[in-house]
Amino acid sequence: MSQYPRDYRGRFAPSPTGPLHFGSLVAAVGSYLQARHQQGQWLVRMEDLDRPRCVKGADSQILKTLERYGMVWDGEVMYQSQRDTAYNIALEQLEAMNACYPCACSRSEIAAIARPGSEGPIYPGTCRKGLAEGKKVNAIRTRLDDAVISFHDLLQGEITQYLFRDLGDFVIRRADSLFAYQLAVVVDDAEQGITEVVRGSDLLESTPRQIWLQQKLGYHTPTYLHLPIAVNAAGEKLSKQTFATAIDDQEPRPQLIKALNFLGQQVPGDAADSTLDDLWQWAIQHWSLAKLPATRQIPAADEQDSSILPPINN
Ligand code: GLU
Repeated sequence: MSQYPRDYRGRFAPSPTGPLHFGSLVAAVGSYLQARHQQGQWLVRMEDLDRPRCVKGADSQILKTLERYGMVWDGEVMYQSQRDTAYNIALEQLEAMNACYPCACSRSEIAAIARPGSEGPIYPGTCRKGLAEGKKVNAIRTRLDDAVISFHDLLQGEITQYLFRDLGDFVIRRADSLFAYQLAVVVDDAEQGITEVVRGSDLLESTPRQIWLQQKLGYHTPTYLHLPIAVNAAGEKLSKQTFATAIDDQEPRPQLIKALNFLGQQVPGDAADSTLDDLWQWAIQHWSLAKLPATRQIPAADEQDSSILPPINN
């Protein structure tokens, strides 16, 4: 068992759609340090829910990279692909309280009538009163009330969302019968007893939907900390889609130092000479929320650009 007390439980939840890149390393390092600085637990969950997008072997590659970087997780790695029973139970719970309904609309039907929102078309609730004659169920959607969800993000401050007005009834089971991320993440955070979610700010807008589901399902709401995400010169999030390069497994220290500096932790210049263990020791001890840049995104210097790296003396 772990040497860490049970009070704080954080997690890192990568989608195994490819190897870790600098953007995902930032989320891993931020969540790891926030947990370890408080002598808390740090769990890993593979978000391999969206089978068609997952890449075979990417999960073990990610775990190997975490190990090489010296990030040790607690307990067993959870795999979302094995959790359909739990998601089904949650879905049945929502059905029993009339908090969701089947929807027969196709994407193009929705696009033709919906207002645009920050996260795509705002579903106008067409199927709320039942499916039209002869229509087949496509997806399952939440039946939102007029809830205004507000929460205090530890870094980004007060966030308020009018769910129905600004987002619309959202999908919890997709047309291809796969459970949607919003439902799965809520069920899994509850199952793993996560007390605080530390992840990239690209998910800030998802959090109110997750809190709404937690409230319906009677789960505890964790605290949230949304880190700045690394973006490329075009302002796009580093990701597989934007061809972010995989981080180097062989020599973790330069990327780790870059991630720490990205997170405002100001690694001392001579840290480059220290071992990986010493670097972690320094980082765990000196981790400071106050030093995190309170912004949603920061351009990441690319691999060639060493401007945010202290000199490395190899
Ligand atoms: N699986 C998501 C990702 O890789 C993270 C989800 C989360 O942390 O809630 O971007």
